[in-house]
Amino acid sequence: MTDIVSHRGGALLWPENSRVAFENTAKLAVAQVEFDVHFSADRRLVVIHDATLDRTTDGTGPVVAQTWADLSKLVLRGTGGQRMLLLEEVIALFRPTSIGLRIEIKPGPGRVPYPGLPQRVMAALCEHGMLERCVITSFQLGTVCEAVSFATPRTHAWLVTPDLQTDLGLPGVCAAALARGVPMLGLRSNRLDAAAVAAVRGAGLEIGGWACNDAAMIRRMFDLQVAGFTTDRPDLALQLRP
Ligand code: MG
Repeated sequence: MTDIVSHRGGALLWPENSRVAFENTAKLAVAQVEFDVHFSADRRLVVIHDATLDRTTDGTGPVVAQTWADLSKLVLRGTGGQRMLLLEEVIALFRPTSIGLRIEIKPGPGRVPYPGLPQRVMAALCEHGMLERCVITSFQLGTVCEAVSFATPRTHAWLVTPDLQTDLGLPGVCAAALARGVPMLGLRSNRLDAAAVAAVRGAGLEIGGWACNDAAMIRRMFDLQVAGFTTDRPDLALQLRP
């Protein structure tokens, strides 16, 4: 069965990575909710997509340049006054549900990994007893591997950009994943077809899709029976689920 994953809490339905998005996602029959984690200046685990505040909040500059005390005073755009959330708060929202967490560990400004972030995320999941309900992802292979070296989540996936898929080729991407013990790839949906599924499964890996936001793309993910896919329209995906 293909898992439907509410991307950033359903980013085309509600303001991404916000309390309102997560509370609404929690009412849906989706398998997982996806969100992104950065460090604050005082090393709190902050749920926000970008490394900078400008696009989604009324603040400016890098997330990591401000302490949680300052970040918590900022307002998420489109929420009518809600602040951003900490990882522990998102865990608390979903713990009473059957929805799993798909956590993307982000790099900081300039795509430089935050030293210590993977370990801190895994420690938080251990502390809250959520490891078996979590999928760990990153576009950075080293970050995914570092995270699972500290604790074992339900599974983990390396997210592959179209550029990397082109430059390395799918056989090269699969070889890199296998060499590092990563069991699943996430391909951009417009680069995920029957041939890609055959290549990835043939290499012994699982495959999922990201950026699946229209009906045709969502139907294709179900037709290809991928392990799961992230979507900004979890409502539409649930309607189209076979
Ligand atoms: Mg993400």
